Amino acid sequence: MSNTPILQGLDIHKRFGANEVLKGVSVTAEKGDVISMIGSSGSGKSTFLRCLNMLEQPNAGRIILDGDELALAPDKAGALAVQDAKQLQRLRAQVSMVFQHFNLWAHMTAVENVTEAPIHALKLSKAEALERAHNYLQRVGVYHRKDAFPAHLSGGEQQRVAIARALAMEPKVMLFDEPTSALDPELVGEVLRVMRSVAEEGRTMIVVTHEMGFAREVSNKLVFLHKGQIEEQGDPQEVLQNPKSERLQAFLSNSL
Ligand code: ADP
Ligand code: MG
Repeated sequence: MSNTPILQGLDIHKRFGANEVLKGVSVTAEKGDVISMIGSSGSGKSTFLRCLNMLEQPNAGRIILDGDELALAPDKAGALAVQDAKQLQRLRAQVSMVFQHFNLWAHMTAVENVTEAPIHALKLSKAEALERAHNYLQRVGVYHRKDAFPAHLSGGEQQRVAIARALAMEPKVMLFDEPTSALDPELVGEVLRVMRSVAEEGRTMIVVTHEMGFAREVSNKLVFLHKGQIEEQGDPQEVLQNPKSERLQAFLSNSL
């Protein structure tokens, strides 16, 4: 079973009204994969990530978590819904997400943000959750800020707390949606360094990013999305050095 993919989104379709945003996107993450997803604004990157953990309901496609395929059926609006609440719970617990705008709970301290889901979703005791939280806050270098509220943290610190929060679920896969795009330029490096070290631990990650250095140096697979379809994919170094599609060539020359 060791070669069972950790997470697969297969032939994912999504439309908002008449706007077909995903036209059959398939991504397979094997254990330890770091997959970078790139593409222009509006190409469907966030929507795809959100479909993978059912924050968004796809209209068609399959989602398979560590060999367990979600039982999906269309609701009245034609969007797929998970039929089994336990499966949805498992998906949410095992696929954790780091958002562009951090999405920390403003009324909770850093450490409370990290213990919240382990206590409520994983049913850890408060002491166990605290131990875990301290460990991961240390891991991302913000332990000394553990009692601060998000408003008193820099953007880089907030995002590192958000990464600690995701890690504290000890998920099978971590999804990152442009985790450095909202940061002041001088704070990008500290977050990328944490992400790189998390990747080097062998964690499975799917990262939507505009950081081509990260894509080239840290990820082992690259996916270029264009208007809701995969236009090109492969080994990041090869694809970035020698892009075949004209659209990717144009995208890369614009993103320099
Ligand atoms: P990206 O992350 O690549 O910039 P998105 O996945 O956010 O792209 O968006 C893809 C397209 O879907 C855009 O045209 C966007 O306007 C549209 N879209 C995204 N979310 C919604 C929504 N909740 N309702 C309607 N349209 C949406
Ligand atoms: Mg996006």
